[in-house]
Amino acid sequence: MNNCGKCGGEAVTLRRVATFSHEVSGIVVELKDSVFEVVCDACGSQGTLIQNHEGLVAAVAVSRAHIPVKLNGTELRFMRKALGLTATKLAARLDVTPAHLSRWEHGHRPIPASQERSLRMLAVIELQERAPAIDSDFKALCDMEISPIRNGLDDNPMRFELVRFKERDTREKHDQWDTAEALAA
Ligand SMILES: [Zn+2]
Repeated sequence: MNNCGKCGGEAVTLRRVATFSHEVSGIVVELKDSVFEVVCDACGSQGTLIQNHEGLVAAVAVSRAHIPVKLNGTELRFMRKALGLTATKLAARLDVTPAHLSRWEHGHRPIPASQERSLRMLAVIELQERAPAIDSDFKALCDMEISPIRNGLDDNPMRFELVRFKERDTREKHDQWDTAEALAA
């Protein structure tokens, strides 16, 4: 199942990484006890194993949508990519021109609060299924007072971990990404 990608050898050593710093479309997040370093016993080649990456991207987007700190340009672009939308499509959803959206994504103009709320709502609606361990709170999203400070979360990266999550319908358990507690300072 985890054969070496280089030589095909079966004997690989997995080592769980306590804190793994990972970048998704410009957003740096920390992954707690969930990523494996893979070392091939035969050829020595090394790799990294991140499970359910699509679910991780969704979890980052849904989680970020609930944090009332204004989205910076990089985060806006990340949200759009997580939604799988082109600039033209997202611009149409937000009733602006693609050129306008581009100015937001490049940080030349801040996105107005009403459109930012719409984008956050859209992200949660479209992506919550892929991140079922993250709680969605639509009332909080509607009522959200967004802090105007625009430096994103660079100084305080979001943390995530894989958890065994029981599906409500099937009662089956799957590994899903959830938010993890911040490290004690
Ligand atoms: Zn190998």
